[in-house]
Amino acid sequence: MIRSSGWSRWPPKEGSPAHFQSSSDVLAPAVALRDEIDTFCQRGYLASSNHNAPFRKEAALSTDPNTKSIDIDTSLVEQYLSQMAQFGKFGQTGVNRVAYSPEWVAAMDQYAKWCSDANLVVKRDSVGNIWGVLQGTTDRNVIASGSHIDSQTSGGRYDGSLGALSALIALRALNEQFGRPKRTLECVALCEEEGSRFPSAQFWGSRAITGRISPEDPDRVLGWDGQSIASAMREVGLDPVKFLESKREDIDAFIELHIEQGPILEQLGLPVAIVTGITGIRHYSVELLGKQDHAGAFPMDMRRDAMAGFSEISTGLLNTAHRWGRPTVTTVGRIVCEPNFPAIVPGKISFTVDCRHPDPELCQKLYETHEALMREVAERRQLDVNWTIINDHPPCPSDLGLIDIFSKGAAIQRVPFTTMHSGAGHDCQQMGRIAKVVMIFVRSKGGRSHTPDEFSSVEDILAGIRTLAAGLHKMAY
Ligand SMILES: [Zn+2]
Repeated sequence: MIRSSGWSRWPPKEGSPAHFQSSSDVLAPAVALRDEIDTFCQRGYLASSNHNAPFRKEAALSTDPNTKSIDIDTSLVEQYLSQMAQFGKFGQTGVNRVAYSPEWVAAMDQYAKWCSDANLVVKRDSVGNIWGVLQGTTDRNVIASGSHIDSQTSGGRYDGSLGALSALIALRALNEQFGRPKRTLECVALCEEEGSRFPSAQFWGSRAITGRISPEDPDRVLGWDGQSIASAMREVGLDPVKFLESKREDIDAFIELHIEQGPILEQLGLPVAIVTGITGIRHYSVELLGKQDHAGAFPMDMRRDAMAGFSEISTGLLNTAHRWGRPTVTTVGRIVCEPNFPAIVPGKISFTVDCRHPDPELCQKLYETHEALMREVAERRQLDVNWTIINDHPPCPSDLGLIDIFSKGAAIQRVPFTTMHSGAGHDCQQMGRIAKVVMIFVRSKGGRSHTPDEFSSVEDILAGIRTLAAGLHKMAY
């Protein structure tokens, strides 16, 4: 059951995008809408707090005399997607394409060939990212768009690939329909994001671009089979010592189109979202220590039962997230009980907590609330509690200017859209350290991802690419 709270209005009310009928529903002037969306974005990252604003903006902007319709070749989209899915094909619809595998090499070569076909200049950097460059007439900093080419094992054909291909298709369309841009546009297929072969490599491609790989990493990052990423790079002809050469300092903006991987757009009945930010994520590894005793001889009121404390903490953390409502999430997992026998009061419970919020302030408040609860329960029950933070990614808010540009892009293309945050991590988070970023989400069927069942319709994908192309056009021409 989905609860409603101050942070969310769910299910959407009449007049929200899911119930939108026609452009004649729209009466508000553009300026008021502009204020509305800005206020919305400043507080930001709140997935469904105001569905009306961005959508109503669409029709108000459609009278813009500079409106340009961008044609995207449907058959090219279908052909590229199905051909890309052949590299590492798994079953009927799945893909197994881990970084630096033979399938990965074939996929990257194909991407490079398609960039050449689109009259883009192809560049391969030192970690294997492939860039397609549409040179601008000025030397202003680059506007780049793309996503990762590697997959989960087994994953679907859209996660990552769709963003890399969409950027390429958008650049090709812009080049064909509007010629050379003022500002240089680049599309990119990033080499690694999923951590599916090298679990600690995560974001290898975008980390190289942003200069966040350390000299020890290539030998230290190991695959599930023990092979280092340095050795895997050598096998495909890359010199791991040269990773620094991938670093870029000339990228002004990065836009990542990606499948949503969740159910929100499907529930709203919308093809596309402009992403207001990527959630902050923290992982705690917690130990709760009590006293191991006889399960029969020790009265309840004299126990220091770690399991009793854990039950209360677990319920408390989850209830906090429920009470706060969307977009707050908290997950308790990986529970180890010691000893783990029927007639022993457990002396120790270890568990993990995954908690996320996209708003920088509320994210901190959530962490503090969770920590206070763990301390309070432990103290009252005479347990010792300690934790380590094993993962900590701050929220990555999208650039307000880019949210506005791509919202307008969608509006100009008459693509119905909403704004929402991303609950999953993406390359954009890394790119946000060197550039202004924003993401475009495309509806996922059933919200499914990281499975061969992943699916997005060609119509929705076209809506996403048109939104991307329209925003790039606004920025670069
Ligand atoms: Zn992805």
